[in-house]
Amino acid sequence: KNITIAIDGFSSTGKSTIAKQLAKELKYVYVDSGAMYRAVTLYAMQHNFISEHFFDRDKLILALDKINLQFKFNATLGYAEMYLNHKNVENEIRGLEVSKFVSKVSEVSEVRRKLVEQQQQMGKNKGVVMDGRDIGTVVFPNAELKFFITASIEKRAQRRFKELILKGDNVTFDEILKNVEYRDHIDSTRKDSPLIVAKDAIEIDNSEMTLEEQFDKIYGITIK
Ligand code: C5P
Repeated sequence: KNITIAIDGFSSTGKSTIAKQLAKELKYVYVDSGAMYRAVTLYAMQHNFISEHFFDRDKLILALDKINLQFKFNATLGYAEMYLNHKNVENEIRGLEVSKFVSKVSEVSEVRRKLVEQQQQMGKNKGVVMDGRDIGTVVFPNAELKFFITASIEKRAQRRFKELILKGDNVTFDEILKNVEYRDHIDSTRKDSPLIVAKDAIEIDNSEMTLEEQFDKIYGITIK
């Protein structure tokens, strides 16, 4: 029978890799909720609502109705890509620029309300694996299965650094480490839906686990 699986945790814990793999194996829909926050952030950057020293929340809130978000399945890649106002933004939303501002945008309650509503719609027929920060606590508090993924800050920064370097981004390890620490801090201290462990979540620290070990563990729990 189809269930709802929530995978939450800190930044760069490899949640999306695991969630994608799990959804594929179960033939479920995978939803990357972080991609939605990232796309809204990209919109805010494109319209100069946010920069290094400035954030016009009110302008962003007023523009929310103009932001159309869609996931479109890419059969070649085997997963869905993010479209912002009908443009594929998958590449842009993964860069360090968006990562720098996304936690600020995610603090805005009006943004969260809009995205949570869409996420609940996407999961209403069950058979969904969704990853993020508040999936097990806010989006699907009744999810049948909840995981909370953690890893040491160094491991997470190392993984993200490798990913961006492989993509050809010009970043330093120190920048990435600072960004991961910064997002951890804002995500877990914000007023609206802070990152907390749902009381019925299964916690997994993957600092010393390979992807395969991690998948075996999570898949094992899922089919039990
Ligand atoms: O998962 P990812 O690292 O792509 O998420 C980017 C950012 O989006 C997070 O650092 C967090 O600020 C925000 N986010 C959120 N709630 C979610 C998913 C992501 O606030 N459910």
